[in-house]
Amino acid sequence: MKVSEIYGKKQNKDCPSKKSLSFEIFPPKKDSELKNIDETLAVLCELEPDYISVTFGAGGSANCNRTIELAKRIKREYHVEPVVHLTCLHYNKAEIDEFANILTDAGLQNVLALRGDKNPNIAEKEDFRHASDLIAYMKAKWDFCFLGACYPECHPESDGRISDVKYLKTKVSAGAEVLLSQLFFDNKLFFRFQEDCRIADINTPIIPGIMPVINASQIRRMITMCGATFPVRFQKIIHKYEDNKEALFDAGMSYALSQIIDLLVNDIDGIHLYTMNNPLVARRICEGIRNII
Ligand code: FAD
Repeated sequence: MKVSEIYGKKQNKDCPSKKSLSFEIFPPKKDSELKNIDETLAVLCELEPDYISVTFGAGGSANCNRTIELAKRIKREYHVEPVVHLTCLHYNKAEIDEFANILTDAGLQNVLALRGDKNPNIAEKEDFRHASDLIAYMKAKWDFCFLGACYPECHPESDGRISDVKYLKTKVSAGAEVLLSQLFFDNKLFFRFQEDCRIADINTPIIPGIMPVINASQIRRMITMCGATFPVRFQKIIHKYEDNKEALFDAGMSYALSQIIDLLVNDIDGIHLYTMNNPLVARRICEGIRNII
């Protein structure tokens, strides 16, 4: 099933309050970790997400193969809809064609089309400069549902909110039907971004990405990588509990749950959970919103 159909159904008047719940996972780097991913998938799928997205490591066929293998298993063995992430900066049209053929043969229908991060160690190719180029190219040749990434606090390379939203509109016009957001810790910034999008006539579902924090180094790494604002209220929590693993887990889950509940009461279209392949995190969050989402 295409993810766009899931949102079509959710907007049905018969079930007006139902929001989507989706998870992000990453493929294991080593074969020895495959057993762990099985245990993770079993728990995640038991929680009945609407879809699970699988990340993609740019620059190498081994990375692509693991993403596709995992996506195929999610669909065949667990009967949950997978979304395959695909980056384009380091690939040419022939390589993307090959990838699209593999996805089609495997019955995989959903692609989160991404530019990918610039990496000085991997040569960029000329065919695609932006995610919108990838979507426009693939849409003309294949029948996928395309999702796109969006950034409530702007993409780190962007000139600011106006140009970021302008290029997001280009991505949607090229064919992105659902937008998944970068993680953020301050809901006000997400609501402002959503409003900017609606003013710019971007009317696709915009799904907030939430990352429950379970250790202090994880949050510091995330903030450095994506430039997310670290609200004072949250800084105090991390500072107070960073040396107590169990307390930080509880506090991190509570913070994420309070963010999610605030989003849900403000009429967002769904929640995308960055699980970090941790089934305990996903389970705890789902238990916290079982009667709410
Ligand atoms: P784009 O949409 O191309 O935007 C990149 C920059 O270019 C932005 O500053 C934008 O404003 C600007 N821009 C866009 N179009 C134009 C244009 N026509 N002209 C001029 N400027 C333009 N990375 C991975 O490697 N693997 C993953 O699996 C992965 N999954 C992700 C999932 C989500 C939900 C998110 C939010 C990000 C993910 N990323 C992943 C990271 C992503 O690849 C990076 O953030 C990357 O730097 C930008 O990708 P994009 O698709 O958003 O790029």
